[in-house]
Amino acid sequence: MIESFARLRAVAWPLVIGIAAGGVAVLFAGPGFFWALVALGLAVMLIVQFINFQEPILRPAEKNPDDPLALLPPLTRLLLEQLPMPVMLLDDHERVLFVNHSMRDVLGPGLDRKRASSVLRNPDVLSAIARAGQGEASNVPFTLPVPVERHFQAYAARISVTPPVTVLLLHDLTVVKRSEQMRADFVANASHELRTPLAAVTGFIETLRGHAKDDADAREQFLEIMAAETGRMRRLINDLLSLTRIEMNEHVKPEGRIELESVVRQAAAALKPLAAQDGITVTVQAESDLPPVIGDQDELVQLFQNLIHNAIKYGREDGLVTVTIARSGDQLVAAIRDDGDGIAPNAIPRLTERFYRVDVKRSRERGGTGLGLAIVKHIISRHQGRLSIESKLGEGSLFTVFLPAAPPEILEKPAISEPVTEVL
Ligand code: ADP
Repeated sequence: MIESFARLRAVAWPLVIGIAAGGVAVLFAGPGFFWALVALGLAVMLIVQFINFQEPILRPAEKNPDDPLALLPPLTRLLLEQLPMPVMLLDDHERVLFVNHSMRDVLGPGLDRKRASSVLRNPDVLSAIARAGQGEASNVPFTLPVPVERHFQAYAARISVTPPVTVLLLHDLTVVKRSEQMRADFVANASHELRTPLAAVTGFIETLRGHAKDDADAREQFLEIMAAETGRMRRLINDLLSLTRIEMNEHVKPEGRIELESVVRQAAAALKPLAAQDGITVTVQAESDLPPVIGDQDELVQLFQNLIHNAIKYGREDGLVTVTIARSGDQLVAAIRDDGDGIAPNAIPRLTERFYRVDVKRSRERGGTGLGLAIVKHIISRHQGRLSIESKLGEGSLFTVFLPAAPPEILEKPAISEPVTEVL
């Protein structure tokens, strides 16, 4: 309030001068001239107000030269407060003058006037602040271990005003670090998965060259294993390529209008021979008059192939896999149910992680790569859908895919033809 009054006083002088000059002028030239001068005063006041609004980031302290915060005009302070990047201003004695909301989110509340060493315990950041006080700006990486590990790049520099102020900015690198770690883990996992069958094939080649050279039975047996191992490598490479392709397209919306029932039937038909080997029956039931979904035909076929294939791989021998498709509001719901061993509750949230398998040995025996559900997750995300997994140990599993129904098609209006007048 006091500040607003001071501001008004600072800019209202042209109006006061205008009224005074108008008062003098009215004595000589009449009331019309008076109002003209008042209007001129008002106009000058507005212009001065506009110029004042475009204040510099820091302006000389007028009232209290010892308080560096007086250098911060209200607009600059408001902007700093709203910045998504954590900002801290420190005085010459490394005491906190100002922190914005992002910095309070990182370091907690109650930081004002505290010394940097009591709010930031990292020696690298503290020495960067000390160096900044000497006029040397620097960038240092640092990690906050609690409550959750967060990684930052801290930038400390001195602002040359009187009295001097040190600014500390934090750049949150947690997401970048996490994705770097995930990428490194992924490459390590993929190499490991490829190295295992490769090592088996290399071993059998050595054996066939050595003591099994003239053993026809051993040769047949080893060649069969080698074929299975190279098949596994091929599947893994195909899945890796699919995953990369789907990830690259994930932000591009699919455009086709796809009949979900025909996609599911196509996926199920391709897997029926495989199911028959284990005596498993696959059935598909769909409600009538289902609307289409907006999607990519090949990706949707792959999505349902992966889920039905899993139901066959981990289902009960001579069991039943049922796929149902129904409508629920503006969603199409496709549910794949098997009667296998089921999945332990603690494993369910991890199933869509790359290379996560509940039972690695069983997955390998059944030709799994550990990437099927990661691919499913990315395809569903591209189609703006949702996956739900329910399972009970000993009773089987239910994987449900929710996909938004396509809006009714807008038929293009036939063009109205203009009457043609023939000119002879
Ligand atoms: P994989 O190639 O190993 O099958 P997925 O990503 O498709 O990889 O599945 C990850 C893991 O989830 C599987 O290894 C398996 O342990 C578990 N899983 C997936 N589907 C089922 C299912 N229908 N029943 C039981 N376990 C399943």
